[in-house]
Amino acid sequence: MIDLRSDTVTKPDDAMREAARDAEVGDDVYGEDPTVNELEARAADLVGFEDALYVPTGTMGNQVAVRTHTERGQEVLSERESHVVKWELGGMAQLSGLQLRSLDGGERGVPTPEQVREGYVEEDAHRPGTGLLTLENTHNSKGGIAIDPGKIDAAAEAAHDHGVPVHLDGARVCNAAVALDVPPARIAESVDSVMFCLSKGLGAPVGSMLAGSEAFVARARRNRKLFGGGMRQAGVIAAPGLAALDNVDRLADDHENARVLAERLAGIDGLDVQEPETNIVLVDTERTGLTAEAFLDDCEDAGVLGTQFDTHVARFCTHWDVDREDVETAAERVGEALDA
Ligand SMILES: *Cc1c(COP(=O)(O)O)cnc(C)c1O
Repeated sequence: MIDLRSDTVTKPDDAMREAARDAEVGDDVYGEDPTVNELEARAADLVGFEDALYVPTGTMGNQVAVRTHTERGQEVLSERESHVVKWELGGMAQLSGLQLRSLDGGERGVPTPEQVREGYVEEDAHRPGTGLLTLENTHNSKGGIAIDPGKIDAAAEAAHDHGVPVHLDGARVCNAAVALDVPPARIAESVDSVMFCLSKGLGAPVGSMLAGSEAFVARARRNRKLFGGGMRQAGVIAAPGLAALDNVDRLADDHENARVLAERLAGIDGLDVQEPETNIVLVDTERTGLTAEAFLDDCEDAGVLGTQFDTHVARFCTHWDVDREDVETAAERVGEALDA
């Protein structure tokens, strides 16, 4: 089976397993785990912030960030197809008592400064006030789009003009950085906090980072505890996370494999394939007469796994555990599945 459901399906390599076994540990709730402390320092450095917080998942990282930036009852401006809106169980409402005002980020999934200005609500006797703008890069639902940092800067500046902080969901910020050939810190330069996942293309078995100013991370640390994410001898899982930080440049291979996969799939009759910018390939199945669900069932029978994104949109994701030959084989199998 060639598993292209997500870049989260990778298994840790021997180096990561050895790092986990040999990790120096302590109680991280007391701040005494040297491996976690090293990971937090290196992660902060990578994205250009003073400090960072190790969290078990990207979802927790985003939700802790949202909670830390806002007060109950405020509004949050988020792109309508973004992960915090679509895939986090309405956590902003459930966990932080916030109201969403969604913005349509168009094809590239990033709101314009005008949209941010129009969406902003000033607090008064009747209106809740805007507490936060969230952005996403790469944009998952739009097909792993690597958003130009200038567009992030512009949206962030519009929010900052009103005193509104900005959180970047950078689950795949390193993919964006590699695709755009800039350091990850450049992508996050104008935002107030960024979350990125160690557990996706970087290959760690678990974990994400939330970076920001020292004061922000100190408050986020309390909210992580509140949300149940204060971990003890977490160095055991942080050690493979440290090793994962060395895998940023390797993401270029995933992008190249996605490009090859997309090219091959585009040659199959009836499939409309979005040209990938990073490691995500979106396939529209409408012209085949199949829903994405039926198409993916056929793919699975042929030995290829993907995920359904919309009625007629399937997603394939390249990652560390698939190579060039695998994606070529996957495309062949998909072609055969549709022929049968
Ligand atoms: C995967 C992902 C997350 C959440 O990460 P988990 O570790 O799965 O909770 C958040 N945002 C984006 C854009 C993602 O792709």
